[in-house]
Amino acid sequence: MRIPLVDLRRQHRSIRRPLLSAIKRVFKSGRFVLGEEVARFEREWAAYCGVPYAVGTSSGASALHLAMLVLNIGPGDEVITVPFTFIATVSEITRVGARPVFVDIDPRSYTLDIAKLREKIERDYYFDERIGHLVNRATQRRLKAILPVHLYGQMADMEPLRELARRYGVRLIEDAAQAHGAEYRMNDGQQTATFKAGSLGDLGCFSFYPSKNLGACGEAGAIVTREEAWARRLRCLVNNGRSPEDPDRHLEEGFNYRLDALQAAILRAKLRYLDRWNERRRELAALYRLALSDVEEIVLPEEMPYARHVYHRYVVRVPDRDRVRRALSEQGIETAAPYSVPLHLQPAYRHLGYRAGDFPVAEACARTVLSLPLYPELREKDIRRIARALRAALRPHSR
Ligand SMILES: *Cc1c(COP(=O)(O)O)cnc(C)c1O
Repeated sequence: MRIPLVDLRRQHRSIRRPLLSAIKRVFKSGRFVLGEEVARFEREWAAYCGVPYAVGTSSGASALHLAMLVLNIGPGDEVITVPFTFIATVSEITRVGARPVFVDIDPRSYTLDIAKLREKIERDYYFDERIGHLVNRATQRRLKAILPVHLYGQMADMEPLRELARRYGVRLIEDAAQAHGAEYRMNDGQQTATFKAGSLGDLGCFSFYPSKNLGACGEAGAIVTREEAWARRLRCLVNNGRSPEDPDRHLEEGFNYRLDALQAAILRAKLRYLDRWNERRRELAALYRLALSDVEEIVLPEEMPYARHVYHRYVVRVPDRDRVRRALSEQGIETAAPYSVPLHLQPAYRHLGYRAGDFPVAEACARTVLSLPLYPELREKDIRRIARALRAALRPHSR
């Protein structure tokens, strides 16, 4: 029996009734674009994330694109992000004519390294009082935003990021496409409070690509914010710039970036299970840890003291990764290597002028990361089988 990396069929079998009734509701309404389902999902998703506003989009990439537009990021601007992420994080920066600037990741959390970010800002930028922005000494471009990625289900360290953003007048955009329901614990001196992914930046961008922790049955995304004016503009931009009050007026040129009603209805049905599913992912991650913690060749994922990890992926690091992958595949176990080529070394970004060696942590991760099967419906005996196969692949001569 093969164990796939992700198995949506089992999930859909387990919630067949609520899914079908959501789909039927949309057919009965005859409303396939925007309408009540989308409006309700937006309210429910905002409430889940703990922010006042959510706007549905056609994908995570379109959410990121809109974030750039709403913050007036364009030619002459820079956005700092990581080279170790899915390409859409970066392609939506260049889409608006801005320049992505990379900072390496932290080797424990695999998210933006705060110390390296500070160093970079202090070395390469000066604060221009007249315009209230950091300016790159070499390029004279303005640093408009920092875009942390909550990789594999764990949030970046948001508190120091918020402090840096406040100090320097830089915006914070969260790429929360892999972190639905992930949390960040913050202590204000007396009390600890937890915040959901998406709620600590100026804007939080989500993808509901089918394999994400909350996935549609097709393409979908959302953007969340506390700022009413941005939410209003986003709602207009996703719908070809149409005024929400008067459909005959286009306030500006926008896009067809609408979330469809069928996907919204499906997401509403699935949202009720998200916490349960995330909890199950955490339990399964704990089982992996138990089964693998004595194998010293493996680096297991680490939950940072501030974080509640929701294990979008269970990613370990192993030596000789490609051989290990082949060995697991021969045992019927599907794995992945996200991301085996960091973005600064991708042909698409050759023109940015980065070289091998520029981001050693991202490059070391790219060589060693191995994503093991993980989804709420995975069985405990599957985990035992995967752990056994992984052990055997790493120590072919011991028994
Ligand atoms: C999935 C993902 C995206 C893009 O989402 P789409 O819905 O596929 O456009 C962006 N960033 C990260 C980190 C992702 O994992």
